[in-house]
Amino acid sequence: MKCFNHPNADAVGTCSQCGKGGCRDCIEDVGGALLCENCLNLHRQAHQEEEQSIAADRRVIMNRSKRIIAFTVILAIGGIIGAFSIASGQPNQSGVGIMVFGLGYCLPCMYLGVPKVWGMWRGFWKKIGCFLWATPIGWLILFVLFFYIPLVGGAVYGGLGGGIYEFVRHLRIARGKF
Ligand SMILES: [Zn+2]
Ligand SMILES: [Zn+2]
Repeated sequence: MKCFNHPNADAVGTCSQCGKGGCRDCIEDVGGALLCENCLNLHRQAHQEEEQSIAADRRVIMNRSKRIIAFTVILAIGGIIGAFSIASGQPNQSGVGIMVFGLGYCLPCMYLGVPKVWGMWRGFWKKIGCFLWATPIGWLILFVLFFYIPLVGGAVYGGLGGGIYEFVRHLRIARGKF
């Protein structure tokens, strides 16, 4: 067999994609598969597009974490300012520490903790396929299970360090470490 490109040169192999025979100059070994010039270009192009789409997906994830971080910081600063402004209007300012803790720490921690526990909770029920309850009591139980428990669980998780864990996790994601 002769090269598809050089009629005088002997083919050293056939392209694994299109089956054309190519000489040493016209066919290349790409990770164990032989590819002709044309197919190699297509392969590179597809590879590049794939990388671009992965990079775009990563950017979306990173931007989401950046927004979460920004909102958490705003919430914490706003909470602390709010706590001091509420306290400053009162003659007895002994409660300011509790309010700073509540609004500056617990509130942002809830914001970080609840969606996490919420997602785990929903994933759990999805996994066991328990979704279609048609009685009012069923709906009430559903409401408690689906809203109350992840809300309280998320707040507890957030307050007991989960908030800080989530914050650090989002910082890492925002910097592209995932
Ligand atoms: Zn080919
Ligand atoms: Zn050739």
